[in-house]
Amino acid sequence: MMKTNMGSTVLLLGLIFLLGAGVARGQSVAPPQNSAAAAIAPTDPGWTVAFPGHRVMGNVYYVGSKGLASYLITTAQGHILINSSLGSSVDLIRESVEKLGFKFSDVKILLISHAHFDHCAGSARVKELTGAKYMVMDADVPVVESGGKLDFQYGDSADGRYKAAKVDRVLHDGDEVKLGGVVLVAHKTPGHTRGCTTWTMKVAEGAGSGPDSGGGKVYDVVMVGSPNVNPGYRLVGNADYPEMARDYELTFRVLKSLPCDVFLGAHGSYYGMEEKFARLKDGAANPFVDPAGYRSYVAEREAAFRAELGRQKVGGE
Ligand SMILES: [Zn+2]
Repeated sequence: MMKTNMGSTVLLLGLIFLLGAGVARGQSVAPPQNSAAAAIAPTDPGWTVAFPGHRVMGNVYYVGSKGLASYLITTAQGHILINSSLGSSVDLIRESVEKLGFKFSDVKILLISHAHFDHCAGSARVKELTGAKYMVMDADVPVVESGGKLDFQYGDSADGRYKAAKVDRVLHDGDEVKLGGVVLVAHKTPGHTRGCTTWTMKVAEGAGSGPDSGGGKVYDVVMVGSPNVNPGYRLVGNADYPEMARDYELTFRVLKSLPCDVFLGAHGSYYGMEEKFARLKDGAANPFVDPAGYRSYVAEREAAFRAELGRQKVGGE
C-alpha cells in the first residue's frame, strides 16, 4: 500500500484537477502515474463561480455553478434539489433558486449524484436551512454519514472531508422518489463511488407541465452520476474496493440501457452545459435534447474505462 495522507492529498488534488478540467468527451483519463503532474494544477475556479440559473425543460432547472451541476425539480408540493455541492456552493444555489422565482425553503427532498465532496459537502447545510429529507443510495450512505471518512479512496485525506449529514431515507437500485406528481428513479451506477446514482425522470415540454398533463411530447431525462475513473483509482487488485471493475462494467450496461432525450450530469462538462446554455432561445429547438450526445459520451467514457483497465492489467497491479 502506498496510501499515505500525503499520497491521498495528491490524489485528491488530481481528482480536483480532473473534474475541474472537465473529464470531457474525447479527453482520456490520466493514468495514476500522472497524478503528481495533475496535483500542481489549482482547484478549478469554475467550481465556485456563479452561473445563470436556467430552465432545462418543463419543471427541471439548472441551479449549479459553472463547474458543479445542481438541479431543482419544482412541484406544487415543494421542490427536489439534486447535489448540494461544496459547503460554499449552498449560497450560490440558493441565489439561483430565488432568482428563478422559487423559495429555497420549499426544498423538501435533497438527492446527490454520488458521495464525493464536490457533490455532497453542502448537504448538512441544505438540511439545516430547508429541513429537506436527505435520500441517498445504500452504498454511499456510510460515506456521507461519516463526512467522507469512509470513502475508499479519499477517506484519509482531510481535504475530502465535509460536515457529516444524516440520511433520512436509504435508497436502493430502482427506487422511486416521488413528490407532487414527479417521479425520479434512482439507478445505481457504481464504480466511481459504490453508491453512485444516475437519476432519470420524465418531463413534458412546456412550463409547469408534467408527464400527465396530456399535452406535448414526454421526454426521458438522464442525469449521469459519473462514469469516470479518477487518477489513482485501482481497478485491479484493489483491497478497499475489490469489485470496482465489475461495478464499472455494470454501470456502462445500465447507462447504455437507459432511454435518453435530455442529457444532464453531475458536472456540466459531461454534457456541454455552457455551449448548450448559450444556444437557449425562445422558440428554438431545446439544446438539452441530445440523445446522440448522450450515446457518444457513454461510448467514449466506456472506451476510456476499458483503456485504463487494460493499462492496469498490463501494469500487473
Ligand atoms: Zn466524483
